[in-house]
Amino acid sequence: PKPNGDPTAMLMKSYACQRRTPLKHYNSFLTEALEILSQNAEYNDNEGRSVAFRRAASVLKALPRRVRSMQDLRCLPCLGDHSQRVIKEILEDGSSREVESTRQSEQYQAMKALTGIFGVGVRTADRWFREGLRSPDDLIRTGQQLNREQQAGVQYYDDLQKPVTKAEADVISDIVEKAVHAVLPGAEIQLMGGFRRGKEVGHDVDFLITHPEEGKEEGLMPKITNWLKEQGLLLYQKTTRNSYLEKMDGPARASSNMDRFERCFSIFKLQKSAVSCKSSSTASAEDVSTARESERPGEHQSEASGWRAVRVDLVVSPYSQFAFATLGWTGSKLFERELRRWAGQEKHMSLSSHALYDSKQNLYLRAKTEEEIFAYLGLEFIPPSERNA
Ligand code: ATP
Ligand code: MN
Ligand code: MN
Repeated sequence: PKPNGDPTAMLMKSYACQRRTPLKHYNSFLTEALEILSQNAEYNDNEGRSVAFRRAASVLKALPRRVRSMQDLRCLPCLGDHSQRVIKEILEDGSSREVESTRQSEQYQAMKALTGIFGVGVRTADRWFREGLRSPDDLIRTGQQLNREQQAGVQYYDDLQKPVTKAEADVISDIVEKAVHAVLPGAEIQLMGGFRRGKEVGHDVDFLITHPEEGKEEGLMPKITNWLKEQGLLLYQKTTRNSYLEKMDGPARASSNMDRFERCFSIFKLQKSAVSCKSSSTASAEDVSTARESERPGEHQSEASGWRAVRVDLVVSPYSQFAFATLGWTGSKLFERELRRWAGQEKHMSLSSHALYDSKQNLYLRAKTEEEIFAYLGLEFIPPSERNA
């Protein structure tokens, strides 16, 4: 689409990885609605529809102003008929009936509650929903078979529902750094995921770990988790070994975001005093009143216990793959998905969190930095804070 000679019109690129998407934008009243429909499509195993709504929402996030009329949507890519209908209704009536009835529906609410449990995916949640189960309490009440991960998910459900703050992420960063340096001096640790993109809260804290001497990072994770266990800092952990073999595997399939690094999905035991110390210089009246509230009797045990459970993801990457791992673990999920789609469809390349493969030249492209990867892909570099697609 061309700007049509209208000086206020802007050229909106159609892949999210071609655009700058800041964290804060002007159209949450529309994007939240579209994302409910996206989420609901995912619960119904309709990936195509889910991605379509998510792409539509993402375009609106990149707009430099609030949408006030359908006229404002001229020339915008990725807005299908269905998304446009929803937007029109919200602009005219203030809300969309489809969105509101989805939000209120028993299925949507139950799926949200059940998939909100650590270790529970859409398939399992859907099976439980069909069996009449609606919440974590229902699972306990009916004595459902749970794996170790799901048991931890149910046990710490309330804590894991609470957003992790940046202050908490900073304390966890210090702990992870201490643990890693205790077992492998010279290792490098980077905060990833939403917090690297500048988010103020997250559902977990993500870290990428490497060492400049390739090979030193092998088998690092069990050493880290042992150190953390000895300090009493781990409530749960599951480590998966590195299973990436460049020659045998080739690059990951473009549609999959699963990588093969050594990784650990864990739940940390975070002392609240450590957080209040760290953020004391900026503590507000609000923090103080929240602290008092949580001491009321009758609340969930961990409210009064002086610690909380926090989800932490640890990933170990060989140094030569670090740039790809960094790009792959920064997100957002849609941004990643769009990068891989761009690479495949527009460049005949295959991008994963391990490597970039050029199918035309039949070779792997080496990179030390994210900037180099964007350059290989023929994309303008987008900094992490503008990857909130
Ligand atoms: P939040 O604040 O909710 O945690 P987030 O963007 O950090 O938001 P995560 O689910 O923690 O979301 O994922 C962070 C990044 O890690 C994303 O870019 C995602 O693509 C990547 N990622 C997550 N799980 C995997 C996996 N199993 N394999 C490869 N990459 C993954
Ligand atoms: Mn995260
Ligand atoms: Mn994560």
